[in-house]
Amino acid sequence: MPDSRTPPEVDRAAASRRAVAARRERAALKRDVSTRVISPQDLLRHAWAEPQSAAAAMRVTEFLTAIPAIGEGKRDRILADLQIAPVKKIGGLGIRQRQVLQDYLDRRLPEPRARDARSRLIVLAGPTAVGKGTVAAHIKEHHPEILLSVSATTRPPRPGEVEGEHYFFVDDAEFDRMVEAGDLLEYATVHNAYRYGTPRRPIDAALAEGRTVLLEIDLQGARQVRAAAPDATLVFLLPPSWDELVNRLVGRGTEGEEERARRLKTARVELASQGEFDYRVVNDDVARAAAEIARLAR
Ligand code: 5GP
Repeated sequence: MPDSRTPPEVDRAAASRRAVAARRERAALKRDVSTRVISPQDLLRHAWAEPQSAAAAMRVTEFLTAIPAIGEGKRDRILADLQIAPVKKIGGLGIRQRQVLQDYLDRRLPEPRARDARSRLIVLAGPTAVGKGTVAAHIKEHHPEILLSVSATTRPPRPGEVEGEHYFFVDDAEFDRMVEAGDLLEYATVHNAYRYGTPRRPIDAALAEGRTVLLEIDLQGARQVRAAAPDATLVFLLPPSWDELVNRLVGRGTEGEEERARRLKTARVELASQGEFDYRVVNDDVARAAAEIARLAR
């Protein structure tokens, strides 16, 4: 007779595969928290809404050290202060412990709050390769009431790009002239290569008519718009997960180790700037993200 306490071989194999998958999922979530793709509070909400999730199965110790700026020493002090045993899993915390952990995070790492009553000037920025261009193109096609600003650039056109539609392609002398004449709302050198800038006049005209204007620009540009037009609505586009962004950035693996490391480091720095933005939108689905941004315009 088989021993009822030992699971059959197949069950054990399946269970160990499930354990490996769960560990991987927890590791991916920790990367999302450490790179700020999701906030610690996002992870807690997810864990408590779905008790069977990888987030719920994560130990509080793993969770806390995944948060930027919390090392092991600080983690142990926090747990002692909050009277939470280090062996606890997030999903296994009691009501009081959930509350004190949430309060602690809200105090120390407040989530960026959406500000109301922003202007109709919307700036869309985000880390490289998050898909800003695709989302902006989708808004242009499906929300013709929104004006997508056409930038000037010193970059040569790519095949299929149309003058005045994708960009105004200008040479260095013309770009200099626009800067000097004050024709640009903002401008920046992107990826240490070419200059890009937002012509001011079409935007002023559209805003004066009561239209919404969308700028799809880089982070340096977004900061300049914030300084020049403090009531602009700044939207930060986030990838659905850190792993997904890594895939988009270095997916094909055609670049060397050094270039790969450089891109990932840049992405971390870019993600760390999201606190400067009014809204965060996750690009999990282009049409959904575009609709969410278009709604901000109303
Ligand atoms: P691409 O050369 O691939 O069309 O664009 C490269 C980068 O330039 C993108 O990250 C895009 O957001 C940024 N960019 C495009 N137009 C502008 C602009 O007018 N100002 C700034 N600051 N960045 C821009």
